[in-house]
Amino acid sequence: MSTFNVAKFGGTSVANFEAMSRCASIIESHPSTRLVVSSACSGVTNLLVELANGVQEQEQRAAVLQKLADIHETILAKLENAAEAAEAANEVYAILDTVTSLAEAASIQSSTKLTDHLVACGELMSTHILAQLMRERGINAIRFDIRDVLKTDSNFGRAEPNLEQTAQQAKERLIPLCQEYVVVTQGFIGSNEVGDTTTLGRGGSDYSAALIAEAVEASGLEIWTDVPGIYTTDPRIAPKAAPIPEISFSEASEMANFGAKILHPSTLVPALRHDIPVFVGSSREPEKGGTWIRHHAETSPLYRALALRNNQTMVTLRSAKMFHAYGFLAKVFEILAKHKISVDLITTSEISVSLTLDQTDTCGGAPQLPQAAREELEELCHVEVEHNLSVVALIGNNMSSSKGSAKQVFGTLEDFNLRMICYGASQHNLCFLLHESVAKQAIQRLHQELFEQ
Ligand code: ADP
Ligand code: ASP
Ligand code: MG
Repeated sequence: MSTFNVAKFGGTSVANFEAMSRCASIIESHPSTRLVVSSACSGVTNLLVELANGVQEQEQRAAVLQKLADIHETILAKLENAAEAAEAANEVYAILDTVTSLAEAASIQSSTKLTDHLVACGELMSTHILAQLMRERGINAIRFDIRDVLKTDSNFGRAEPNLEQTAQQAKERLIPLCQEYVVVTQGFIGSNEVGDTTTLGRGGSDYSAALIAEAVEASGLEIWTDVPGIYTTDPRIAPKAAPIPEISFSEASEMANFGAKILHPSTLVPALRHDIPVFVGSSREPEKGGTWIRHHAETSPLYRALALRNNQTMVTLRSAKMFHAYGFLAKVFEILAKHKISVDLITTSEISVSLTLDQTDTCGGAPQLPQAAREELEELCHVEVEHNLSVVALIGNNMSSSKGSAKQVFGTLEDFNLRMICYGASQHNLCFLLHESVAKQAIQRLHQELFEQ
């Protein structure tokens, strides 16, 4: 095991010069942190996605490029010696401009491959600037292009890592560099076997940091963000949400899976595989401490937290033929598998099955049931698709074997129209689907009843 930590700084932590300076202070006061994984400056990835989606429109392109330049140049202007970082950032702008112009000239529609190429520029730029800022603070920092180490498949927009190659490359290129320097590198991006740029999906820098921590066998992973730790729910939704000092991997994974934005859903998979303790804290207020995620937490309360995931699509399949018949579900799943559709939640009754579709890639938006899949399903049964739904999840311990919890939860929600309920399959969660317009209210009501008494 390496003796150093990996620290990840999210978009708001590197949003501007002052925020980046706070990151530098954290690195200065944590000498065991030798590897820094940075997101793009706050707002940049959204602009780049916009650029990729509207690659055809020249005017829109110029406006977006200007906004991107403003964000980065404002920081560069505050560096003592910006020349090197500015030159590097200019190279990245040139790539953005060339790629989008060429795409327009050749009438190329945006594709996931092109999108990944463009959106990667956010992290490529922020790391040039952050490394320079750290050097000016006296830190022996060096910028490293993670695409040489984080090897992935070619599933653009939602790439999955090749763990073996990543570990091999990390051993050869990254670990030796960390002996001498504080290495500053990009979250979110990687490259496939032929060197094309890939991304791990929105919010993927957390996942990158965990994968890199695994590859270098780090002794710890620090996730620095804009809140001092993981709270009982998103403090933006319930202002009385409280920080959780310590939480188990399984509870935190459930939270991430059910949409708690604080962690990308896959973040804890590598950390768990290598038993790397994870700390979540605020780069703005590091003195406030944060949350430790470990294999076993000292407490395992019945109710731990509430999570919310918007943008859900529910597909309901109905057929009288399902009644007392066998093989129906198998046929449904065969069709879904054929069209590479990943199912998230599912409930069944005698004659119907309702399921939600898994999340989409870097381009975002609600997951869609492809037309071809819908047509095949319609040969089998009646198909109904609903959008604008949210999943609310209550995360805790031993919930399905504890008397009274279902009554307490559903009693609190009696005024809400619950569209789907999943209870009992997991000891760690109870979740339900409702309309997006009332989801926050449901969280607030539950938080008050279960966490504020
Ligand atoms: P970063 O840019 O650092 O990755 P994110 O915006 O992705 O930060 O994640 C941090 C945000 O996650 C917080 O500002 C908060 O609104 C949201 N959040 C959602 N659920 C929780 C939770 N349970 N505890 C703390 N923050 C949460
Ligand atoms: N910059 C990427 C995003 O905004 C990745 C990340 O910040 O985690 O989605
Ligand atoms: Mg994030």
